Order: sequence, then C-alpha cells, then structure tokens
Amino acid sequence: MMTLRNLPSVEQILQTKTAAHLIARFGRPLTLDAIRFVLDETRARFKSGGLTALPLTDLILAQTESSLTAWTKPTLVQVINASGVILHTNLGRAPMSNAAIHAMDVVSRGYSTLEYDLEKGQRGSRLIHAESLLQKLTGAESAVIVNNNAAAVLLVLSALANKKRVVISRSQLVEIGGGFRVPDVMKQSGAKLVEVGTTNKVHISDYEEALIEAAGLVMHAHRSNFKLVGFTEEPELKDIVTAAHGFEVPVVDDLGSGALYDTAKYGLTHEPTVQESMQAGVDIVCFSGDKLLGGPQAGIIIGRADLIAKIKKHPLARAVRADKACLAGLSATLLHYLKDEAEREVPIVRMMSLTLKQVRGRAEAWAAELGQGEVVAGESTVGGGSLPGESMPTFLLSLEVRSAEKFLHGLRKNNPPVIARTENDKVLLDPRTVLPEQEGALLVGIKNVIREL
Ligand SMILES: *Cc1c(COP(=O)(O)O)cnc(C)c1O
Repeated sequence: MMTLRNLPSVEQILQTKTAAHLIARFGRPLTLDAIRFVLDETRARFKSGGLTALPLTDLILAQTESSLTAWTKPTLVQVINASGVILHTNLGRAPMSNAAIHAMDVVSRGYSTLEYDLEKGQRGSRLIHAESLLQKLTGAESAVIVNNNAAAVLLVLSALANKKRVVISRSQLVEIGGGFRVPDVMKQSGAKLVEVGTTNKVHISDYEEALIEAAGLVMHAHRSNFKLVGFTEEPELKDIVTAAHGFEVPVVDDLGSGALYDTAKYGLTHEPTVQESMQAGVDIVCFSGDKLLGGPQAGIIIGRADLIAKIKKHPLARAVRADKACLAGLSATLLHYLKDEAEREVPIVRMMSLTLKQVRGRAEAWAAELGQGEVVAGESTVGGGSLPGESMPTFLLSLEVRSAEKFLHGLRKNNPPVIARTENDKVLLDPRTVLPEQEGALLVGIKNVIREL
C-alpha cells in the first residue's frame, strides 16, 4: 500500500537535473519554496483522498515549474492598443517618444545631475529640470513638476489656500476618473470650498459677490470628462481673472489635459491650451504630463514666481516630487514642442495627425495580409478625460467572426496581448492607435486566433 513515505523528499528532488535547471532560472530560495508548496499540496490531497496514487518526481517537478512560472509572471506588460482610444487610461495613457524613452533610460542606468550643479561642483536643485523649457514654451515665470496632476492640484491648494476660501463655479465641481473629486481634494487641502452660480448658469457677478469676503484663490477646473450642453452660460476665463484680480485674489486653472497645441488642427473641438490660460492672465496653471502632452506621468505646475516659490516650500512638495526618470522624459518631450517637431516625434500627436488616407492604407494592408476582413469607416476617440465625447473619423479593419467575445479573448492571450473592440458581433481594429513597430506582431496574433477558432 502506498503511504506518504513513498513521496520523494525535497533533497531527492533537488538531486535531479531538472531541479538544477529550475534553480538556474528562478534562484534557489524560490525553487525550494515551490517544491515545498507542491509537496504540501500533494500530501494534503492524498490525505483527503483526492489522489489515488502518489506522483512521481517528474510530475512534482513539472508542477513546481508551473508554480514558479505563475509566481514570476509579470502583471504589467506591453499590449497592442487597437481600440482606437488614443489616451486609454487603462492601457497607460500616452506612449512616449523615442527621445523621451532614451532620456529616461540614460538617467536610470547611471548617475545623473538630478541635484548636482556641474559648474559649481556642489549640490544643485532638481526643480530646475524642465523649468526653462516650460518658461520658453508658455511664458510662465516659474515651474514645478510633481508626480501627477492630482498631486499638483492638492499641492497648489494646500500651499496657497489652506484655511482660506476658494471660489469655484458649481458647474466645475466634477469627479474625473479614479475617484478624483474636486470638492474632496479641496477638503483634503484644508481649503474652504465656496461654490458660486448654479449647475448650468454662472455669471461674473456670482464670482464678484463671493469675492467680497476675503478669499485665498479662485479656482477654474476643466470639466474633463463631461460636457455641459443646452441652457448654459459661463464667463470667459479672462473675465474671471479680471474679477479675481480686482480683489487681489490669484486664479488657479486646473487644465487637466495640458495641450500645448490646438486640437482643432486635427478636426477635433478646440481644447483650451496652456498658452491660452497664461494669456488669460491666470496666475497658476496645472496639467498632466501624460495626457495631450504625450510625455511621462507628471503633474506640471507653472505660473507666477512668488506663488511657485511658496508651492516649492510646502512640505507636500517633497512628498509628491517627480523622480529623475520623469524629469528626464518630460524634458525630452517638451523639447519636441520647442523644436516644433511634436507631430513627427510624439506618438499621440502623430496618431491624431494621421490623415484618413494613411489610416485607410494601413487597414487595407492588414486586410490584404490576412486575406480577410473589410475596411469600414469608424471613429477613434481621444480619451483620458480629454475632449469629452469627441471623436475623429478613422478606418477600421472589421473581421466577421463566429464569436466576437471568444475572438477578443484569443487576441488578449496573444503575446503581446491585443486590445480590440466589437460591434454587432464584428471585431473592429483601429490602425490609428497601433504603433507601426507593433503591426507585425498584431497580424501574427490575429492569424493565430483565426487559425484556432
Ligand atoms: C486628469 C485630470 C486630473 C488628474 O490628473 P492626473 O495626472 O491623472 O493625476 C486633474 N484635473 C483634471 C481636470 C484632469 O482632467
């Protein structure tokens, strides 16, 4: 009769060649953990009657390898975005330019001048990186970079309006994705929220009335992911600025997306630009690095030198500061704009600037390569809380499949996984968001799924 004593011991398993290979691949401690894990499981199943025979060493090793593979499998991996959503929040927003990636690689690999002044040979400040580029691009006096725009808003409010009244239009008390609610951030910063106007109508007199009592800031926030339509009215930013400055209260504009270019150029609605906010006389503007700017995740705060100096000194600034890779990638991205080469170099700008003819050409080439599929007119979207409800015409490869759900699942199992969408039981793939260097892998992936299903 078989008893648990027949089960090979850890030592016996370790003697095998296969175990040596596993140790070479996964390291000794983890391999030992996995062997013990498999043996424990086997004992438990044997005792509970779930096993009629004890497994041989080979099977135990095979199970050990599966455990090791599962335990070490990365969860954050590259995917091919064929969804047509340019700034897909769930897929990591903006892919970065080669120069930005290179700059991040260089500073990550070795030491850098992060906080070192080469001229003086002594300690410098990380706050100078990207600052002069932002000054040139936007005309701002000063800048500070933090981890993301949510942190930027929290920091600005904490540094400039703690225990003070902050006047904001009721129509801008929004929640953007990921639970970021303007009123909650305000509460967290210690600012006292003063709502003016109604949900749909706000007048400049609403601001003026609220400003009679002393206030720390007037805040203007981009509505980001929704649109106000119908019987609505809001004063222009420059008029809000004039009103606020009349009471000597600074204005902060949370722009969100932070476009440095006019999106109308690409057939989209005009998204307020950073330069326009500055021209309207806003004192502080904050925006994201990885939305319409197309750089790394970052929160960019620009504006009046005296206010930025206060922001830099606040204890939270240290807690939310940007790291060296971010500063390197952001500087390289900003340089593309300064050199007027963003359309060629920044992937998301390139995607927006693709002509219909170019997109159609790629979809047709895919159909030809696959020997199936139809090229149909469709829509790409910007996403990422930018340009709500806005889409741009595109051409899609439409595949007629037996089960769209199964096909999409098959595509997600590809290496790298492919993210597509379905409509009316068809699988739709948008060339606009597929990076040119990923096309080969995409087509292989599609062919595999066609063969399997
Ligand atoms: C996206 C967005 C934020 C948050 O920016 P993150 O960089 O995602 O932290 C804040 N405010 C507005 C208006 C936004 O659109």
